[in-house]
Amino acid sequence: MNTKFLIPAASVLLMLSNPLLAESLPLKSVNKAGEVIDAAVEAHGGAEALAGLKTMVREAEFINFRTGQSRNPGPPYDTSHTQSFNAVDLENDIFVARNWGEGGGYVFNQGTIINDENSWQLNYRSGTAAPLAEPDFDTQSGPFIRVTPALLMKQLQDRRGQSNWLGEAEVDGRMHDVITLVMAVGPALALYIDQETHMLTHMERALPPFGQVEYSFQDYTMIDGIAFNQKFNLYVNGEDNLVIDIKSLKTNVPVDQYLQVPGNLEKVAAITPDEMSTNEIDEGVFLIGGNGTYALFVEMEDHVVAVGGTQTVPASIKEMRKEIPDKPIKYGVLTHHHNDHTPGAAAYAQEGATIVTFKENETLVRTAAGDENAKLEFVDEKMTLTDGNKTIEFYNIGPTPHAENILIAYLPGEGIIFEADHFPQPASGVIPAAVPATMAFAKALDQLDLEYTKLVGAHSARIAGPADVESAISRQPVSATGGN
Ligand SMILES: [Zn+2]
Repeated sequence: MNTKFLIPAASVLLMLSNPLLAESLPLKSVNKAGEVIDAAVEAHGGAEALAGLKTMVREAEFINFRTGQSRNPGPPYDTSHTQSFNAVDLENDIFVARNWGEGGGYVFNQGTIINDENSWQLNYRSGTAAPLAEPDFDTQSGPFIRVTPALLMKQLQDRRGQSNWLGEAEVDGRMHDVITLVMAVGPALALYIDQETHMLTHMERALPPFGQVEYSFQDYTMIDGIAFNQKFNLYVNGEDNLVIDIKSLKTNVPVDQYLQVPGNLEKVAAITPDEMSTNEIDEGVFLIGGNGTYALFVEMEDHVVAVGGTQTVPASIKEMRKEIPDKPIKYGVLTHHHNDHTPGAAAYAQEGATIVTFKENETLVRTAAGDENAKLEFVDEKMTLTDGNKTIEFYNIGPTPHAENILIAYLPGEGIIFEADHFPQPASGVIPAAVPATMAFAKALDQLDLEYTKLVGAHSARIAGPADVESAISRQPVSATGGN
């Protein structure tokens, strides 16, 4: 018997249980997703084993293909190597991360402890531990959860009412059901569940402005009754981005021992949110930005010269207009081609400014500007802009371990240098020991023989000086290599 015909059509209340509505597309999609989730949960160890998974401790090795962050604008991309340690306690929202390695002219050894009021950001190289005023378990643990199928299965169980079945798709010659997962933070994920094995093999998400991110889970093995992948690949816009090799993995072991700040780290001031700010560092010279990205605006006789191309540029231009309401931006100068230093090109093109960059970056910059006909001017080794009164010089200090071509700005009259990615300075506290990029930067300053008193950068509101460069070079890393 078809129950459809038994429902009185007039009653609004009864309408809610009308099978015609029950078969509506959204509900069908949620129901189908539920079936796929049940089978997948079973295949990854079963509801009981997954519910019993409370803690995880994992060591892994990463190879990062530096797409958009290599020394040159195009492929083949440079690689960097990282080792990582993670511990997670899902019941108590505890997450511990430590990464150490090298790449892009940097050497790093850092960590995070997310544990409610006892949360810390650790820099083993600088020897510092800074309290985290607003620890966010979901944001911090998200990248770890997204590469761990067992934890994604737990998320699917918890959020099954929000999952949709998107359809079927063939991947590597096998049919998959595709379902969505919306986590506490970040865009929705599309999970590909193999129709025969019910294992998670692929995942996708859109991550503007960088594009499409694809995840691939491989080499499943059972540990304590739960399926864990031993290998993982991440692709950005179809290109290799990350390979993770799991070195060791333990489940349901205590994590308390990882929550203490190591005794050799000095406790320093808390990390506070970096809000939008304008700092007039000399007459008509403004460092404007926030959230770890800054641009320099120099007021000339009848125009403005802007330096730096990070994502903050549109917001920084708005702030700059409060200081210099009516002079047009004549030049927008990009320091280098990296994907976090070119989004500003679009704002400069919209302002009608001439974008200053290297010939080698032309294609990339036109794409970033979103304008085939954007006005470009190419620098080779040096370029000078002057209105007869104020002068700005640009020098290519490349090749460095960070980029083949990279510009610094120098204002000889004011003794100001603006740089990107070569003098990483924290918002406050100790200037860390120089990384290879910093060494190359210091050497270039020496060779160019620039006299300066103020050194500002694309990633910090702090104003440093020559003494800070000296101190970075003479300082030794507190902890050069990783391990616990
Ligand atoms: Zn860079």
